Amino acid sequence: MITTSPIGLASEGWQRELAEAWRSPAALLDRLGLSGHPIARQVTDSPGFPLRVPDYFVGLMRHGDPADPLLAQVLSLAVEAVPAAGFTADPVGDGAASRAPGLLHKYRGRALLITTGACAVHCRYCFRRHFPYQTAAARGDWADVAEQLRSLDVAELILSGGDPLTLADSRLHRLIEQVRRVSGLRRLRIHTRLPVVLPSRVTRALLAPFSRLSMRCVWVIHANHPNEVTPELGEAMARLRDSGGTVLNQAVLLKSVNDDADTLETLSEALFGVGVLPYYLHLLDPVAGAAHFDVPVARAQGLLRELRARLPGYLVPKLVQEVAGADAKRPIDVA
Ligand SMILES: *Cc1c(COP(=O)(O)O)cnc(C)c1O
Ligand code: SF4
Repeated sequence: MITTSPIGLASEGWQRELAEAWRSPAALLDRLGLSGHPIARQVTDSPGFPLRVPDYFVGLMRHGDPADPLLAQVLSLAVEAVPAAGFTADPVGDGAASRAPGLLHKYRGRALLITTGACAVHCRYCFRRHFPYQTAAARGDWADVAEQLRSLDVAELILSGGDPLTLADSRLHRLIEQVRRVSGLRRLRIHTRLPVVLPSRVTRALLAPFSRLSMRCVWVIHANHPNEVTPELGEAMARLRDSGGTVLNQAVLLKSVNDDADTLETLSEALFGVGVLPYYLHLLDPVAGAAHFDVPVARAQGLLRELRARLPGYLVPKLVQEVAGADAKRPIDVA
């Protein structure tokens, strides 16, 4: 059967799962046995950045638990509309770093391409939740992007979004075909949450052209809690590694989701269990609507010290903060 998703794609299995993602807070709470709970009066439809979550990910949430750490990442709450000092629409200065539609050049040797505005899941803490995708995402064929890349002279291209893996295989493959001819480009990095929220996206058909590239491919997935690390994710990671890719994880430190040492320790262990190394643990970007996830810096430093005392060095993520105008993600000193 062929169906059409809201992002206009004829459907493979994963595309159908994406099209059928949950969009109503009331229906999601009902599914989780929480419609009679007080939390049902705290949700909102949030039209500018509505709830969106694939059923696979909902299946990892605990039934009847309003404090489930996966639910907390996706449930749209009325409190998001309450202004908080210091929390703004563009906390990381992406507007100022734009070089061409969709292409951001902030750091030496690396350019970041906003391939699409679409995501499989709407994470409530996302620093791009107010990003002007209509004007700022790359459009048209990818030849313009390749041309811009030549003039930037970078060694690494980062595919970001939105989520690049919401694009159809054909569109991604055309992009690869364009950029693999850009001389000087040695690495292709893909920042994606799809493997975590919809592991069926990681198909062999998707990966085939990646495995034939002479560039090194680095996949940076995004899991915040050990409950997101499942056998399905493990199988998707095995397919990524089979295609020759290196796989890392970035997480965001989120209040009431993963702001305790046991959870972070278990996350690193679980990720390594599926062949993924922790890369960054980000302090929350102060984006309007996300203040209820904020963890004080001193607490973050304490958690990192605890992790260092418990884990081998290669399983301790780097604690970083994005600072508008800085020449790199800023490491947070934890000594
Ligand atoms: C985060 C980011 C990168 C990548 O930074 P790394 O420290 O190399 O992971 C590159 N470009 C932009 C615009 C970014 O926001
Ligand atoms: S998947 Fe990434 S870009 Fe999309 S909403 Fe979540 S954090 Fe933001």
